[in-house]
Amino acid sequence: MAQTKAKVRLSEEEAIAKDARYVVQTYGRQPIVLTKGKGALVWDVNGREYIDCVAGIAVNNLGHCHPKVVAAIQEQAAKLMHTSNLYYTDIQPELAERLAQITKMDRIFFANSGTESIEAAMKLARKRTGKKGFIAAEHCFHGRTMGALSITHKSKYREPFEPLVPGARFVPYGDADAIRRALNGDVAAVVLEPIQGEGGVQIPPKDYLAEVREICDKAGTLLIFDEVQTGMGRTGKWFAKEHSGVEPDIMCVAKGIAGGFPMGIMAAQEGIASAFRKGDHASTFGGNALGCAAALATIKAIEGEHLLERSREMGDYLKKELSIRCKQDFVDHVRGVGMMVGVQMNKDGNALVDKAREKGVLINVASDTVIRFVPPFVITKEEVDRVVGVVSELAL
Ligand SMILES: *Cc1c(COP(=O)(O)O)cnc(C)c1O
Repeated sequence: MAQTKAKVRLSEEEAIAKDARYVVQTYGRQPIVLTKGKGALVWDVNGREYIDCVAGIAVNNLGHCHPKVVAAIQEQAAKLMHTSNLYYTDIQPELAERLAQITKMDRIFFANSGTESIEAAMKLARKRTGKKGFIAAEHCFHGRTMGALSITHKSKYREPFEPLVPGARFVPYGDADAIRRALNGDVAAVVLEPIQGEGGVQIPPKDYLAEVREICDKAGTLLIFDEVQTGMGRTGKWFAKEHSGVEPDIMCVAKGIAGGFPMGIMAAQEGIASAFRKGDHASTFGGNALGCAAALATIKAIEGEHLLERSREMGDYLKKELSIRCKQDFVDHVRGVGMMVGVQMNKDGNALVDKAREKGVLINVASDTVIRFVPPFVITKEEVDRVVGVVSELAL
């Protein structure tokens, strides 16, 4: 499928040169300039097509430019985009109700990104418990702002910016006893991803989260689930917590929540959320009408088009095909839940990203040794076959 030559703003050379000259250089970007997306496909400025298994890093769950999300944004943009949270709108409360239903939480705080949802959760945990510390897991990722960074494990991300929020400690992921030992009476919350994303699609032992829940209850410590990456159907259920049956006190959701529009939420149980009083937390843009329209359309599309089932089915197919066909000597095994799949390699695989892109497949590598696949749920079987065909022939 060739792209009809649309008018482009900048050529490849111009875009890369202007970025180099004017953008703060915090990203190691790949040398393609994307202009258009549809479903699981994206096109660059030269009209080259790619199958997108990165999907904005687990954001474009419905595929690029889902027509229902596009229509909802267009309609809302022409009506009302933003008002201050000093006022009600006729859309934010409706979205809060829908989010409360799908998260099985009581109350929602609206922010604009994953890291902001974590900040809100950390503040709420301190306010609720009167305790200061946090326990997080090794290889976890919770964001880049000062609070979230304090509970993010990678020292390369943390050290240049210390001192951070004091009182954070890290324990091995999947080891409930390590949490028991680390609790010291001043821990406001244990913060965990139900499946680690940036850590390389790490799935904990079966009873881990249930055991942690019990430990937290005994210690009077809150349990926060970071479902920023695992939420909104990514693992084949609305939220990854559902695979364990464990309910946290607070959960954070972002990435896929609004079909590509920036939004993050903190959801909390009633008895926890009530610790926040007027003035305790706020966001100028949080829960703006435009984002709410995008999120409502996203939830409706996931339900109406049975995309949770699709995430499960296509995720299983992708995992199976990768396991059968990726037999290179550097591949150890394939793991994953729903549409969150990782190929574990036995050496650094960052060089594979360029090779796959040159063959028309966008992938990324998490934790250096895991090829992470988080494509849109709407990816077709034929597209999965093409992806697996390319990946199974990559050489390191
Ligand atoms: C991406 C991510 C974040 C940070 O989200 P941003 O929107 O980039 O701030 C936090 N936690 C997890 C698990 C993530 O994957």
